[in-house]
Amino acid sequence: MTIEQQITELRIALKEHNYRYYVLDEPTISDFEFDQLLKTLKSLEDDHPDFFDQNSPTQRVGGSITKNFNTVVHDQRMYSLDNSYSTSDLEEWEKRLLKVIDAPLSFMCELKYDGASISLTYENGTLLRGVTRGDGIEGDDVTANIRTIRSIPLTLKGTFPQRFDIRGEIVMPKAGFEALNLQRIAAGEEPFKNPRNTASGSLKLQDSAEVAKRPLSCLLYNLQGDDIEVSTQSQALEQARSWGFKVPSEAKSFSHLSDVLSYVSYWEAQRHELPYEIDGVVIKVNDLKHQELLGFTAKAPRWAIAYKFQAEEAQSILESVVYQVGRTGAITPVAQLTPVELAGTVVKRASLHNADQMAKLDLCLDDHVFVEKGGDIIPKITGVNFAARRSDSRPIVFITHCPECDTPLVRQEGEAQHYCPNEQGCPIQIMGRIQHYISRKAMDIEGLGEETVSLMVRQGIISDFSDLYTLEVSDLLPLERMGEKSAQNLVNGVAESRSKEFDRVLFALGIRHVGQTVAKKLARHYKSIDALAKATLEELVDLDDIGIKIAESIVRYFQEAQNIERIERLRSFGIQLTMIEQPASLNLPAILSGKSFVVSGVFEHYSREGLKALIADYGGKVVGSISGKTSYVVAGDQMGPSKREKAEKLGVPLLSENEFSAMIKAGVQTNLFY
Ligand code: AMP
Ligand code: ZN
Repeated sequence: MTIEQQITELRIALKEHNYRYYVLDEPTISDFEFDQLLKTLKSLEDDHPDFFDQNSPTQRVGGSITKNFNTVVHDQRMYSLDNSYSTSDLEEWEKRLLKVIDAPLSFMCELKYDGASISLTYENGTLLRGVTRGDGIEGDDVTANIRTIRSIPLTLKGTFPQRFDIRGEIVMPKAGFEALNLQRIAAGEEPFKNPRNTASGSLKLQDSAEVAKRPLSCLLYNLQGDDIEVSTQSQALEQARSWGFKVPSEAKSFSHLSDVLSYVSYWEAQRHELPYEIDGVVIKVNDLKHQELLGFTAKAPRWAIAYKFQAEEAQSILESVVYQVGRTGAITPVAQLTPVELAGTVVKRASLHNADQMAKLDLCLDDHVFVEKGGDIIPKITGVNFAARRSDSRPIVFITHCPECDTPLVRQEGEAQHYCPNEQGCPIQIMGRIQHYISRKAMDIEGLGEETVSLMVRQGIISDFSDLYTLEVSDLLPLERMGEKSAQNLVNGVAESRSKEFDRVLFALGIRHVGQTVAKKLARHYKSIDALAKATLEELVDLDDIGIKIAESIVRYFQEAQNIERIERLRSFGIQLTMIEQPASLNLPAILSGKSFVVSGVFEHYSREGLKALIADYGGKVVGSISGKTSYVVAGDQMGPSKREKAEKLGVPLLSENEFSAMIKAGVQTNLFY
């Protein structure tokens, strides 16, 4: 046998033993024998580096260092799951399904593994990369770390599509977690708090050799790809198993909700017998065609729901209640608690949501309360330990006036939340709206921070974000710690925000329930604020990802005269209220080739970035600063005076926005004649 054959055979054998040990939990050789085989392979590979293969079983020990994890956009978005906590929640879900699906349903029940989600991409049967969920749209590339997890196959068995994604949960099984902590304690290190955080923390370690030492496992639950030949979720799981993935066998399908409920209560009682932690059950509509019909909301699939088990609980004392006013005027009561440890973190505050919630709990000050941490970051108070209540305890009375502006609070029919109706006068709401408007994800206005906004509002310099556009340096100078230079920066930052794309503007307006994703969607669909303002409730609800709450809020927003006025003001200042269609980057004639451009200032019809892209698409070159070689400067409003001077001195012609458009038009026409 040649060396190459020996190496190949050892790799195949070790891969199979690896699979039996880590995926099937059915080893057929001892750990000692396994180590001997691995050592033999390692020394052969060391002596014959020509046969190096990154997928060899010897490479599971890691060794590469990742300083910064690259961000990768998921091919398919990674959604989260809607939660349910009771039988009636599940019954309602079934009702919603039956409104869309006019056929008998089959449910696939799976355990909800408690760890960190991961998306693995395979190409030609080998692991290409592993990406964390991140915000669902893009995550971190943690491939080097993932490769050390033995239950994740580096190469697949059987036949498989050319490329696909498989999703699952990286978990740290309980036994491994305990062993790891014993080691840490022995080494004088702090033990880890819980398996879940340890698993997700491990994925982000820089040294993959460290990750290789952590007893991680990966449990798979979802296939994504164009060429996957299955028609149900249960077939998808079977398919994944056949390729060598670890798919827990507890998953079961049922045709009646009553059986689903039994499955849920069975596992709620038996969860502690499992080798890894779960925090609930995930129920999915089994038929993929039905899944497609049901689709997604902005956050989660309509065809799946998580049933969350009772979370861990602790007891604490309610010291006081404070009331927060949000930028939409909503009042949120927040309980201040005696600090207590819960599921690995110290809890001092808990949301009480609204007055109804408080009444339901029958809370008194100094009560001993049960605190629970569900999936949310903010813990909840779930009940009062009445046995421990003092006889002289004082009930809590919900406030009647806004803690910020003393306006009497209102509560709309059918709404649980109290609101401060003083939208135009309540300083915290005014500030909140402006802060939201200038924030990084919205208009991203440089040179303007929270403190300055609060100063300007308190001193009556501005009372709305549209006022920002009227500011002059001289308005700002009287403010504390505001110099000439920072005032100028602020004014420039505000002026520049006029080139921000429409979808950002739409998000920045702060329409209730319209987050970034929804704003993007609406901007792309309606293309202008005027079209959106005319949209009816029915039309809006028909759009993917837009639920009734969002739709109602949008319609209500455009019914208010103040909002229309505000939008008209923004329009008069040149804010982008329409989508600018970017031309397809290919196929445009290279009419600007050989010419170089500097783009400066703010434009009416283009965002600055859009204009630059356009120049590049027509074959021109965009440069940062003016030199003798610059062909043109495209000059918008508010171009800096020094730039203008420099262009004039070097004899570089200035083009207005319209002149530039005319030049493109003429160029394209001449081009057509050749
Ligand atoms: P949440 O983060 O609470 O919205 O719940 C969604 C997460 O549950 C997903 O991102 C998955 O990582 C996780 N999960 C665990 N087990 C499953 C499963 N069997 N099917 C789908 N998702 C699961
Ligand atoms: Zn108020």
